Amino acid sequence: MLPEDIELSQNISTNIQAFFDATDYEKVAVIVDENTKSLCLPLVKNVLPPSSIIEIKSGEEHKNLDTCKTIWERLTKFQFDRKSLVVNLGGGVIGDMGGFCAATYKRGIDFINIPTTLLAQVDASVGGKLGIDFMGFKNHIGAFMKPRKVFIDTSFLKTLPENELRSGFAEVIKHCLIADAGYWQTISLKDIHGQIWPDIVLHSLEVKNKIVSDDPFEKGLRKILNFGHTIGHAIESYFLEQNDGRLLHGEAVAAGMICETYLSEAKCNFPICTTKKVESYIFQTFGKISLSSNDIDQIVRYCEQDKKNEKGTINFSLLKEIGNPVFNIAVEQEEIRKVIQRYSHL
Ligand code: NAD
Repeated sequence: MLPEDIELSQNISTNIQAFFDATDYEKVAVIVDENTKSLCLPLVKNVLPPSSIIEIKSGEEHKNLDTCKTIWERLTKFQFDRKSLVVNLGGGVIGDMGGFCAATYKRGIDFINIPTTLLAQVDASVGGKLGIDFMGFKNHIGAFMKPRKVFIDTSFLKTLPENELRSGFAEVIKHCLIADAGYWQTISLKDIHGQIWPDIVLHSLEVKNKIVSDDPFEKGLRKILNFGHTIGHAIESYFLEQNDGRLLHGEAVAAGMICETYLSEAKCNFPICTTKKVESYIFQTFGKISLSSNDIDQIVRYCEQDKKNEKGTINFSLLKEIGNPVFNIAVEQEEIRKVIQRYSHL
């Protein structure tokens, strides 16, 4: 079941229209980037009330305080007050940053999200995490606050570049691996192009929503959502620092999920035959990131900086089997090195 604040539809315009018919905001601002302005805004413009458009530059590198300043300045210039609304029309960057700006403007004004990437639809739209990057740390400054509504329509995905679609698909795979062996069977029978997006998005939202509702502030169970992310984040951060052609979040997480499946095998008796299936599907979908032995050393070092470290050990969320996750599994550095080497076949 989906929470009341999330509406998923094949024609979201009707839902958005109903929302504005039932509410009475004095002013509305729509945050877009150059891509969502040209490709997504036309799909909903006719159901939005007269709005101020705040256009920001696309990309993670703009998810920062400077862009927030621009957004806050525009809201101030437009004389937005507490009865105003911010509409975040875009991917996870706009959702996280536009939400953060709304949550902090005049101690918080309402915002709604219209996520337009697969990642934002299946992952960033649930859980109320908002934030920006700061001093090189991802999501370092932020808050928890839920949007008034999230309107999801998979038609937006038609214009999404293929690498961005794949990036979101990594989170879909993760949701199946941590929560639903049956649905893993369903998706792994087809390649990414054969997937039925409305069904997939609904499934992922249900999985994430269930986990987040049981642990809204990440005290315990929610940690299972980190499967693939400890090594994945380390790979992502390392590549970011190398300026070596940016690796998308999902591409790094896909590699992380393979490595952490190997760890699951070693630490939690995850069945070897299932490892082979997971490995082969993810390699087919994402290919393999080529890593030298120096890269591997650096990635292991990045793992040590992970915020899930406690008292010198690195804590992982792993799998006993598909759909049966465990968290707070302490792993030694050497074990991490071994699984990344296995991934690279070094
Ligand atoms: P993104 O927001 O950078 O969007 C990716 C690219 O796709 C951008 O260039 C954007 O302009 C373009 N785009 C968006 N919609 C489009 C469409 N329909 N057609 C064509 N192009 C389109 O990236 P993302 O992957 O959506 O989000 C990544 C961000 O989400 C990260 O900052 C991450 O930290 C955050 N995130 C947040 C949560 C959370 O719980 N809050 C969860 C996961 C990720």
